Amino acid sequence: MTEDRPDHSIAVTRSSLPPLEEYVEMLKPLWESAWLTNMGEYHKQFAGQLKEYLHVPNLELFVNGHMALELLLQAMDLSGEVITTPFTFASTTHAIVRNGLTPVFCDINPVDYTLDADRLESLITEKTSAIVPVHVYGHICDVERIAEIAERHHLKVIYDAAHTFGEEYDGRGIGQFGDASMFSFHATKVFHSIEGGAAAFREEALAPVLYELKNFGITGYESVESVGANGKMNEFQAAMGILNLRYVDAEIAKRKALVMRYRERLSGVEGIRLSPENPKVRYNYAYMPVVFDGYRKDRDQIFSELAEHDIHARKYFYPCVNSYDCYKDRYDAEETPVAARISRQVLTLPLYAGLEPETVDLICDLILR
Ligand SMILES: *Cc1c(COP(=O)(O)O)cnc(C)c1O
Repeated sequence: MTEDRPDHSIAVTRSSLPPLEEYVEMLKPLWESAWLTNMGEYHKQFAGQLKEYLHVPNLELFVNGHMALELLLQAMDLSGEVITTPFTFASTTHAIVRNGLTPVFCDINPVDYTLDADRLESLITEKTSAIVPVHVYGHICDVERIAEIAERHHLKVIYDAAHTFGEEYDGRGIGQFGDASMFSFHATKVFHSIEGGAAAFREEALAPVLYELKNFGITGYESVESVGANGKMNEFQAAMGILNLRYVDAEIAKRKALVMRYRERLSGVEGIRLSPENPKVRYNYAYMPVVFDGYRKDRDQIFSELAEHDIHARKYFYPCVNSYDCYKDRYDAEETPVAARISRQVLTLPLYAGLEPETVDLICDLILR
């Protein structure tokens, strides 16, 4: 997000915007039709384009990623416990709790910080109904192991794919794994529609259920059949999404070049850990996480040194969800020690398409100084 700071300030991210004239051009039909929301023409167009871009069979748009996830969980009609990760954004756990379900936290692996599939099975009880893993920073979860375990125990798998817009694993769109995936199009993500999100899902029969749930459960002029919410994406969002979709590949290419530059400077340095890239994944280069593990300066020190130069990295994710004020009385964050440790060691460095390569060099100089 662009923040109200002097020009030389570097934020962790900066929202990409299409040429203003193109957006204004797209607004004209809205002024003519006065159809501003409730599944209008742009909504329809955008959904169709995304289905193709993401290579997913079914897709429903939402006002934001969180509502997509919350309503997906509701649509799956789950009960009892849901296994998830504490190393994520507030949204993942909140969506579970707000559905009246109990999150059970599984630790992460120390290599790519996604849910540790080795620990998954021991957390399954007769109350477990689903697994909600997160593709952290664009790293893909162990989708094969998770599928195999879920199948054996008849559990649903709903991925939080907020970080993996447009990624592919083994040549397949990332939204094809599990029963469903949530994508976020928030302004700070690789791809955005100001705010926005989508649910991609395997079973076509889920489409009318999600449509109904995002529109208050309304099924006709005089009938309301379920306790839905308001999760509709409006036409201004859809128009922004349609435009940004034209530029997203170019943006990802720019991000990739910057990530390569970071990696070149920071890899192989003692005490600095970068996750290895999986050759089976087509990445979107959403984030530049660096873990300081035994480096001569710790994470907080580097965070402060960068801030002194008006460079604002982010402690993301810190703290872990199971130590949030609203959850800490019910959970012990030390039960997921890897997540607890990584959250204290990780820093995501500035990364956005318009970032100057020289700024990457400056950030690396400051870290390595
Ligand atoms: C951004 C994000 C969300 C929520 O998406 P919104 O579109 O902001 O509601 C959920 N999970 C993760 C991991 C995210 O990064």
